[in-house]
Amino acid sequence: MSYCQIGNLQIMRALEMIMPFGRQAFFPQTTESDWAPHRHWLEPQALDPVTDELQFPMQSYVVHTSHHTILIDSCVGNDKERPNRSSWHMKTDDAYMRALAALGIAPEDIDFVMCTHLHTDHIGWNTRLEDGRWVPTFPNARYIFSEREMAAWRDVGHEKFSRVPYEDSVLPIVEAGRAELVTNDYAVDDEVWLESTPGHTPDHVAISLASNGASAVMCGDILHSPVQCLHPEWVPWPDWDAELAKRTRRAFLERYCDTDTLVCTAHFPLPSAGRVVRAGDAFRFEYDQRSW
Ligand SMILES: [Zn+2]
Repeated sequence: MSYCQIGNLQIMRALEMIMPFGRQAFFPQTTESDWAPHRHWLEPQALDPVTDELQFPMQSYVVHTSHHTILIDSCVGNDKERPNRSSWHMKTDDAYMRALAALGIAPEDIDFVMCTHLHTDHIGWNTRLEDGRWVPTFPNARYIFSEREMAAWRDVGHEKFSRVPYEDSVLPIVEAGRAELVTNDYAVDDEVWLESTPGHTPDHVAISLASNGASAVMCGDILHSPVQCLHPEWVPWPDWDAELAKRTRRAFLERYCDTDTLVCTAHFPLPSAGRVVRAGDAFRFEYDQRSW
């Protein structure tokens, strides 16, 4: 079992799958010439040179704090109807549960599940199918959801997105009495708290961690690809509010640039975590060199 130590905290990753996404489908406003200067450093991990597709890990972070075991973002899940993505649709593999087991984690061990936002690849394992019903996968956990984020998916929906993931992966948690609806300044304790980072979704949050003067931040989908450090203005198609997301992305990069804070991304190539450094009037991502 490998982990990254931040003060008293141990951060681990549980990988469910690596998922390919079409480059220009994901960043629809980009052109071939936008990508040309970046191919040499994006390939092969972030951009597959054979298929020419972006490669996004789908993974959870698991954090042992001084007091709790916390799971952050719960990936894609099994048995979920996701007809637009064949490798997510009604899948039944045990990769995710095996990845957790390899970390020494049983579902009962998780005290908190926290979601940076409520997109389908960050909430899927919140629930699992049991006798035709969705039940909490982590039976002892309190699930921390932004109330505003939840209301957006419950009440409005969005033309780009289906309401189904909310119905199979969020609502059953509320009905089971395991959800804690919070504001985006919520703190679990002095080691774990939320940071408001809206735009990708209405109330997207980053999750900040600190212990003994060391710090890390889980950035969810503020960023999808390391190329966005150099081009924070590139808009991925799922961004809810593109202009707000752009401002949030740049402000986030500026805030953590040239600091010791370990930035743990959801979808950058493994190990997915590193530090933001300045590069001209933009940024660069330096991967954490520890093997974890
Ligand atoms: Zn995502």
